Amino acid sequence: MTRTIDGNAVAADVRDDVAECVATLEAAGVTPGLATVLMSEDPASETYVSMKQRDCEEVGIEGIDVELDADAPAAELFETIDDLNAREDVHGILVQLPVPDHVDKRRVLRRIAPEKDVDGFHPENVGRLVAGDARFKPCTPHGVQKLLEAYDVETEGADAVVVGRSDIVGKPMANLLIQKSPVGNATTTVCHSRTEDLAGKLADADIVIAAAGMPEFIDGSMLKPGATVIDVGINRVDADTEKGYALVGDVDYESASEVAGAITPVPGGVGPMTRAMLLYNTVQAASLQHDVEIDL
Ligand code: NDP
Repeated sequence: MTRTIDGNAVAADVRDDVAECVATLEAAGVTPGLATVLMSEDPASETYVSMKQRDCEEVGIEGIDVELDADAPAAELFETIDDLNAREDVHGILVQLPVPDHVDKRRVLRRIAPEKDVDGFHPENVGRLVAGDARFKPCTPHGVQKLLEAYDVETEGADAVVVGRSDIVGKPMANLLIQKSPVGNATTTVCHSRTEDLAGKLADADIVIAAAGMPEFIDGSMLKPGATVIDVGINRVDADTEKGYALVGDVDYESASEVAGAITPVPGGVGPMTRAMLLYNTVQAASLQHDVEIDL
């Protein structure tokens, strides 16, 4: 029997835990605050930010919603970040990516105070993750780890293949899986667009994390029977729906679910986890900044 890994259910549990942490922080006189900074007119980015603000409200985190004109000078964004870094009521700062072309993304990520960098993209936090001393784990790979944990997927000694090597998903995912720690200790291969014989690598994988952004390009025939398949991909494809499109993963769910031991759907798999882990990181940031112990 193939198990469907239900990201909505696990994310709801994480949100419940976060809400309890918020109550603990409140009792100590701290209201956790998350600032989102949007410098874009891209409708998808606008939607992501409004969802994050709504998520905050649901668990009692104070959302601070900052919007800048997409053609504002880069200096304005840097000043905004400096102000948020200095604010005591702001514990987490998230600059919605992508930023416009005239803004250097790397400078933006370096400008955010590492202790408020709830995305985990600041070089200091990347370094700490690699060194096995993570402060904030980036939300998507952290969410994947939570799913593996919730479904008792054995990572220790398992052969894991991560498809994709981006800074936000593939690289941190691989770094988490190789750590000498729970939900780690996997023998991990990272594949990318220059990988030769991806099919050969997948055929031996006990765990596949697909994060390439290629619609349904991994199918059941490429998987090892019984493998755990975590589909991070979110791809918009033309479809005969009201909106004229549908969202699909990197994995062909139908054929893969006949071979896999456990698999995440798209939507309803990794997506809700990414959102939940941002809330998790925000209460963690507040706890660290105010030295209030919480139970996460
Ligand atoms: P990027 O485009 O930054 O990275 C894609 C990676 O996939 C690259 O490393 C690329 O290789 C690799 N790749 C591309 N084609 C192939 C191929 N044919 N075979 C093997 N590897 C390939 O994407 P992201 O990491 O930002 O996102 C990946 C997917 O996950 C997207 O669909 C995105 O929408 C989704 N996503 C979902 C989230 C969620 O919450 N569910 C959160 C974040 C992203 P190379 O480096 O050589 O170019």
